[in-house]
Amino acid sequence: MTRGALFEMISSLYLKQMEIGPMENFVYLVGDKATREVFVVDPAWQVDTVLRMAKEEDLKIVGALVSHYHFDHTNGIEELLESVNCPIYVNKQDVPYLGFASSHVKQTESGQKLKAGQVEIECVHTPGHTPGSQCFHVQGHLISGDTLFIGACGRTDLPGGDAKQLYASLTQKLAKFDDATILCPGHNYAAKTMTTMAEEKKTNPYLLCDSLQNFLKFRTGVSEYRD
Ligand SMILES: [Zn+2]
Repeated sequence: MTRGALFEMISSLYLKQMEIGPMENFVYLVGDKATREVFVVDPAWQVDTVLRMAKEEDLKIVGALVSHYHFDHTNGIEELLESVNCPIYVNKQDVPYLGFASSHVKQTESGQKLKAGQVEIECVHTPGHTPGSQCFHVQGHLISGDTLFIGACGRTDLPGGDAKQLYASLTQKLAKFDDATILCPGHNYAAKTMTTMAEEKKTNPYLLCDSLQNFLKFRTGVSEYRD
């Protein structure tokens, strides 16, 4: 048995998706089923619900992973910190937008790996929706924040948004993920709550744009796009 295969046997993914708050946000608990150590992805809205779920499932929250700075993904950070003393991982390019300073905030870079128990989670920097948007890749799952939705993608007209960057993130980074990868988006905007990258590559109109120019027209509604 290879070391990798042995590792797969020992490690086991815990992943829980919860729809929380008035904007159909998905908050995730992700980590190690065996050791019960998990990260909260995008702590927002009813933090008490997240904490109750963690307690019911006998989980230990070891940190928070922030997909991007927007209020609807971060408004529970301070409340979380009142109950749990843990690091809050934010891409370095979104830290200036957070709106508060805390010694708990740790800056991440693309490719950085974080561990909950034995389960390794990779931060994938996908700028465009915001400068520091990041997705989290863990054992065949991609937790995509507001970068890629089922059948849609994030808007680019909010502070720090950049449609050209988003096109590059979608086509150069996310479209390269294996077809079998399970997409876990940041909002419940579709009939399904999760899907596969294969399905998105076939049906998502933003991934099907064949040129930057077409993407910009489609995403921004501006027919002649200038910098
Ligand atoms: Zn957002």
